Amino acid sequence: MKINTVAVIGAGTMGAGIAQICAQRGWKTRLFDTYELSLENAIININLFWNKGISIGKNNEEQIEQWSRNLKIYTDISKAIFEADLVIEAVPEKMSLKKEIFLKLDKLTSEETILASNTSSLSISEIANVTNNPERVIGMHFFNPVPIMKLLEIIRHDKCSEKTIRTAELIGSELGKTTILVNDFPGFATSRLGVVLGNEAIRMLSEGVASASDIDTAMMLGYKHPIGPLELTDLVGLDVRRDILNNLAKSFSDDSYLPHPLLDKLVKEGELGSKTSKGIYDWSNGVKSDRNDL
Ligand code: NAD
Repeated sequence: MKINTVAVIGAGTMGAGIAQICAQRGWKTRLFDTYELSLENAIININLFWNKGISIGKNNEEQIEQWSRNLKIYTDISKAIFEADLVIEAVPEKMSLKKEIFLKLDKLTSEETILASNTSSLSISEIANVTNNPERVIGMHFFNPVPIMKLLEIIRHDKCSEKTIRTAELIGSELGKTTILVNDFPGFATSRLGVVLGNEAIRMLSEGVASASDIDTAMMLGYKHPIGPLELTDLVGLDVRRDILNNLAKSFSDDSYLPHPLLDKLVKEGELGSKTSKGIYDWSNGVKSDRNDL
């Protein structure tokens, strides 16, 4: 299946990154959000990334003009998904919201359109089952920052067709990603391990085992992780991580997955990580430093 047009639903951290790489690939890319501000911020961030590429000699002006022409923003979903070959949903990690979107996508797209969710933890099968053609629904889990991270986790469910799986793998390779194929278990092969490590690191921080930066250094230098679990939690977003942990606790009926109270508290206070300048670390002026008030 040839991809000409891609629609991305949700222009936050992930949706903006996914739209960026689709536009760079040469596909007509339509980025949709209900909030105009999200769309404006997405374009600002994408342009910052592209302009940095020029300043380090990685891209040229001509390329960026072409990529910008490929990328359009929409606040009307029916216009955004019109004649799209692929729709990738990247709205917040709430099952009710994802179901609402897929119900709409099912009604407004042709049966040939692949419908993908970028969920980090929710059941693809449950999302697919709200549609009349679940065989065309699949999980395509990108990683943050999307233009840089090499992995695309593809999640299949019982009713997913082989054609949909092969197309998703092909799309991944055309976007320069390495794909892995995973069955539809809560948290798949990545988030389940990632959030448990991050949650345990937060527990250790609250118990006073060591500072955030020393816990992170322990994992980087002692276990060869490229980034510490606390810094990664700040970059992903504490709200995103909290939602994934709650979903895992519910799906496995196991309270040991529940977010640590410190994580809950920070989310309630709106300290969501680097995107709000405060999370586990203080990120004022873009510089990471340990907090002494946690
Ligand atoms: P985000 O909060 O940064 O962005 C979500 C966007 O969705 C916002 O711009 C919001 O305005 C928009 N939105 C809300 N309701 C909408 C609706 N009804 N229609 C259209 N847009 C709507 O979230 P994010 O971090 O980009 O996460 C999105 C998805 O990607 C989640 O499922 C998350 O679990 C998954 N994910 C996140 C990361 C990460 O590192 N942040 C990594 C992998 C996967």
